Amino acid sequence: MTLELTFTLPALVFLLLALVLGIADHTTRKCSRTGSDGSAFKATTGLMADDSADGCSTEAAKGGAGLCVRSAGDAGKKRACCYNCKDSFFHSLFVPSRCRLLIGWFNGICRGVVLICGSFDESQRQFIQTSTRSLEPNYQILLYYLYREIADPEAFAATHRDLCERLELKGRILIAKEGINGTVSGTIAATTGYMEAMSDDPITLGTEFKVDPAEDHAFPKLSIKVRPEVVSLGLEMQDEEDIDPRQPTGVRLDPKDWAEAMEAGDAVILDGRNNYESALGHFSGAVCPDVENFRDFPRWIRDNMGHLKNRKILTYCTGGIRCEKLSGFLLREGFRDVAQLHGGILNYGQHPDTKGRHFDGQCYVFDQRVRVEVNRTETSTIISRCVHCSNPSDRYINCRYTSCNDQVFCCESCEKNEGRFCSSDCRAAAERTGASRPV
Ligand SMILES: [Zn+2]
Ligand SMILES: [Zn+2]
Repeated sequence: MTLELTFTLPALVFLLLALVLGIADHTTRKCSRTGSDGSAFKATTGLMADDSADGCSTEAAKGGAGLCVRSAGDAGKKRACCYNCKDSFFHSLFVPSRCRLLIGWFNGICRGVVLICGSFDESQRQFIQTSTRSLEPNYQILLYYLYREIADPEAFAATHRDLCERLELKGRILIAKEGINGTVSGTIAATTGYMEAMSDDPITLGTEFKVDPAEDHAFPKLSIKVRPEVVSLGLEMQDEEDIDPRQPTGVRLDPKDWAEAMEAGDAVILDGRNNYESALGHFSGAVCPDVENFRDFPRWIRDNMGHLKNRKILTYCTGGIRCEKLSGFLLREGFRDVAQLHGGILNYGQHPDTKGRHFDGQCYVFDQRVRVEVNRTETSTIISRCVHCSNPSDRYINCRYTSCNDQVFCCESCEKNEGRFCSSDCRAAAERTGASRPV
């Protein structure tokens, strides 16, 4: 097997350590999700045994516990992780008679190596646990918004740019008179410094951050823009007054109360995001409007939800910012009972009380990750299907035919076979005209 790898020095040290300590010989079993107690680790072994899209859920359904393997998404590699699917990622490369070479793999860079053969005992378990700690991500991604009047957005943007550049953050930040909305990535030290600076500034004091560990930046550069609004329902374009999120909007429910409200079964759950986001994942039973832009919501609601004004409406979006305006709009339209998920899907997925239950599929995010896991329970599932073979797949690709460029779900093997086109028509058109991007 030919593999191109970037071996870092720590990776090689890690491999040598693993060899010296003789983590030897194990039996092959399908991978499985970790149990809450470390002892379950012994049950795990075969890290490459499962070719399904998500070895974790397959084995978790069988009651297995221990290490797990899961699809590595865009990198198209298998990942295994130990103890917790979020902690460490490994790519199992090959299997020299009864052994596994595991490569700590993230964003295409090798982060560490372990050779595992044979069954684990307690000391080996501890060794791996300790060793893999060094692989833990040392970057963070922050997602936040704050609706608060910023009197001079241009001046604020200039000083904010200085702050972000000093901290070497990357990401996208929108600043308007009505507030600020951003997603940034940086080292743990830099992102912590950023959160402190934001709370030291009276303009941004009280901003709530959703924090996700990461192995690297999630953006290629820093972009800070001043806009008329941080989120737009497009109402002014129709000569209507915009929603002011500082006025009463839908009742904010924390994840636990939200889950209970959903479980009560009498509410209409409204996905406040675009169709390509909800296609990747949404709350079970949610109404997912077929709109491509948030500005299309007012018309969609007027056309499709007029008969629901006396029902309880639960709205949600990625981080909560869009629901501040959407729930306000619903109230203004005469909906009587409107609540919104505080902190959005990302907060819901991280919350220990809910662990993302009732969320099917994954959450679309507007950075290089494209998607993040939400449902950390055994009910985790893939809801989207490959555009070519209809097998479950949550890999988004953009069609290579430049006149199309559609974002479609496409499994790894179809991407290879179909040349990264969304259809045979696009492939034929690209071959005819030469208008395609390189693979
Ligand atoms: Zn396919
Ligand atoms: Zn296409």
